[in-house]
Amino acid sequence: MVLITGASSGIGEATARMLAAEGHHVVAAARRLDRLQAITGEVTSQGHSIEAHELDVTDRAAFSSLVARIVDERGHIDVLVGNAGAMLLSRLDSLLVDQWDRMIDVNVRGLLHGIAAVLPHFEHRGQGHVITIASIGAHQVVGTSAVYSATKYAAWALTEGLRLESDPSIRVTTISPGVVESELATHITEPFAAELMKEYRAASLSADAIAGAVVYAIDQPDDVDVNEIVVRPTRQR
Ligand code: NDP
Repeated sequence: MVLITGASSGIGEATARMLAAEGHHVVAAARRLDRLQAITGEVTSQGHSIEAHELDVTDRAAFSSLVARIVDERGHIDVLVGNAGAMLLSRLDSLLVDQWDRMIDVNVRGLLHGIAAVLPHFEHRGQGHVITIASIGAHQVVGTSAVYSATKYAAWALTEGLRLESDPSIRVTTISPGVVESELATHITEPFAAELMKEYRAASLSADAIAGAVVYAIDQPDDVDVNEIVVRPTRQR
């Protein structure tokens, strides 16, 4: 049973489809329920097991209720894929402070809400796996990525902290993608950053490349903890 946040498009959608096709039961969560239902309808018609749930990861109580409901109905959760994210790139001096807040809320608080929701269940069960979709932005800062990178450095640090502190029965993985084709960059409003992204996007990977990394981390034997995977397009430096 794998719970994936941000499963309505891009990497989350590709991961949900791939894991369901591999035989996992998938709970696909995001805000756009119509998009999720279209995906789950298609995946179900292919004979795989998936369900859709509306979730805004910035709502801590909603995250915790969803986890409680899944555990109640299904008995357990094996894996949380913390994938929901926002990348509203801009120069700091553009002062798009609401967008800074949005990225902190989704990329950092949203991730923590997921960890807070599943950790007691994983500890009680003596088993579990947290997979964070961070970014190459968790390893380097480029012009316009200061706040986004800060949230992804935070995502990296939180996931590493979880690995160090949690019971050894809990597996912890950070996956850091390079540029991937998705809707992520379409939300950028600053023209300078949007233009810069067009250059990066010329060499982007398909979301399936990242979904494959998630599947690899999950499919290892229980005593193998894949801690970090960086996946870049070959042309990305
Ligand atoms: P998309 O924009 O296609 O997907 C982002 C997903 O996050 C959507 O499904 C969206 O669903 C969901 N989301 C956003 N805000 C919230 C929220 N408040 N609550 C719940 N879900 C939310 O982009 P990607 O697939 O590319 O992004 C997925 C992850 O991969 C992100 O964390 C991103 O930072 C990371 N990443 C992406 C890279 C890329 O080049 N594409 C590179 C490196 C990392 P909805 O709007 O329905 O809620």
